[in-house]
Amino acid sequence: MTAARRHVTHEVLNQVPLLSGYDVAADPALLSALEREGGGWATDEIHELGARAGAAETQELARLANVNRPELRTHDARGHRIDEVEFHPSWHQLLTTAVTHGLHAAPWADQRDGAHVARAAKFLVWTQAEAGHGCPISMTYACVPALRHAPDLAATFEPLLTSAVYEPGLTIPTAKAGLLAGMAMTEKQGGSDVRANTTRAEPAGDGSYLLTGHKWFCSAPMCDLFLVLAQAPEGLTCFLLPRVLPDGSRNAMYLQRLKDKLGNTSNASSEVEYDQAVAWPVGELGRGVATIINMVSATRLDCVLGSAAAIRQATVIAANYASLRRSFGAVLIDHAAMRAVIADLTLESEAATTLALRLAGASDRAGRGDAAEAALLRIALPAAKYWVCKRAPFVATEALECLGGNGYVEDSGMPRLLRDSALNSIWEGSGNVTALDVLRALSRTPEAADVLLAEIDSGVAADSRLSAAADSLRGLLKEAQAAGERSHGHARRLAGQITLSLQASLLARFSPAPVADAFVASRLGSAWSASIASGPGVPFGTMPPGSDLPAIVERSTTATAR
Ligand SMILES: Cc1cc2nc3c(=O)[nH]c(=O)nc-3n(C[C@H](O)[C@H](O)[C@H](O)COP(=O)(O)OP(=O)(O)OC[C@H]3O[C@@H](n4cnc5c(N)ncnc54)[C@H](O)[C@@H]3O)c2cc1C
Repeated sequence: MTAARRHVTHEVLNQVPLLSGYDVAADPALLSALEREGGGWATDEIHELGARAGAAETQELARLANVNRPELRTHDARGHRIDEVEFHPSWHQLLTTAVTHGLHAAPWADQRDGAHVARAAKFLVWTQAEAGHGCPISMTYACVPALRHAPDLAATFEPLLTSAVYEPGLTIPTAKAGLLAGMAMTEKQGGSDVRANTTRAEPAGDGSYLLTGHKWFCSAPMCDLFLVLAQAPEGLTCFLLPRVLPDGSRNAMYLQRLKDKLGNTSNASSEVEYDQAVAWPVGELGRGVATIINMVSATRLDCVLGSAAAIRQATVIAANYASLRRSFGAVLIDHAAMRAVIADLTLESEAATTLALRLAGASDRAGRGDAAEAALLRIALPAAKYWVCKRAPFVATEALECLGGNGYVEDSGMPRLLRDSALNSIWEGSGNVTALDVLRALSRTPEAADVLLAEIDSGVAADSRLSAAADSLRGLLKEAQAAGERSHGHARRLAGQITLSLQASLLARFSPAPVADAFVASRLGSAWSASIASGPGVPFGTMPPGSDLPAIVERSTTATAR
């Protein structure tokens, strides 16, 4: 026998290992905001979750949950309808971690100040493990304030929605140790305009209603409970619809098909039909939008958190890659043009995270009766939902390119990140709809503008340039208030400027000077409005000269530095 011949065609050189084994929560902007907003007591748990999110085993679970698409099983072997979705075990493992760490409805049962801030930080960290399973988690979190409009139903189900047990499977809800909830509003003829819903709800005579109709999007159809909008005799009403009825029979909710989506692949978004499905009203009959808006508002916060998470994850991966890959005799990040890109992405990440946690803090305090925080949230949340969610795919695309061709290849994780990042802007109010909601907030909650401007003004002491930004925004807000419907064409501009001014004010007060300086100069400076060469409307890496790029970049590299 001849000796085995070794086929060594080339050595693998200058390839950057996949980033794993790091603490996703080692994010200075996140940790300081967590402390400031009142959730510092959860820091240890957040690091624990961060280490788990960055672990190679979790990354493999995320991959498996996405390459093994959920499968719809409408019938069993003998032709009985079962309407179930089969998931890969990795999906259940991801959900188990999310629920046991209280990322779902747990903070509603936690009286500690900052409970919602702690949960927000955990969500921001764990979403970086895998974004798709965040959908039922967010909806379960968000349904509680709406469900409380029906105190009897809340008394029965809230303890199960807040329980730290994930129990998959379709059984009588009250017989389970923990529940998940979904939401079904969108119909074929309209998602933004839910008043056009055609699903009918007829009184059954015993306090329940029978729903007949369809929903065009119903994500996570294996949830135990759903908040559904339907037309009752009194008008559009919010209902609670269980998958399994109290007698153990399946409710008449039929899964027609699963959506074949751009991304969000692990999550089974379905089309459903109801044929006299049993449901109970939540809130006043005919006031369905007013009731379910409580759920929409909480999910919008999660859209901001989820997008901030995607922005941070993309930035850290890009920064890590650029710190290890070499070209033309130097490490990528030492090339000035690359350093400028990574620094710019870092600014975007720090601003998104800081604002997201500020809004979580406002939500926590508003829930405890703080009227000023409620007013701030009313205007700043839709503005941030519009802007931060829109920024995420831009960041993901730019970060992907920092990995060169490797970024375009599925193994890198970047294509999934890019696909998933486009979603938050669509649901819970697509771009225009959320931007228009800012105008609605201005007309219906006029004090919101004053609270917002006061918050922005509080950054002037740290950076006098904010004074001009606040004045300009003050003018825009006044114009919009006076113009009413005529201002609709400027809704996006206003929402963008609100968000940037608020982010600038937060960074001026709470971030290191190089970060705040560069953010204000690049996002609020005259360059943005006067030139097309720099600013938030153009690709990243176009900050004004004089920015302290190494100090900025450090905010994205410390988590992964070895
Ligand atoms: C993956 C995924 C999962 C989803 N899961 C759920 C779910 O679980 N439950 C659920 O109820 N829905 C769900 N949706 C639906 C989602 O909420 C809707 O798609 C969204 O609200 C938009 O509604 P639409 O698709 O009918 O678009 P349309 O309402 O037709 O809007 C189309 C476009 O027009 C714009 N537009 C609408 N009105 C105006 C206006 N007045 N002025 C200017 N522009 C306007 C919108 O911003 C949008 O860009 C999901 C969607 C996706 C993609």
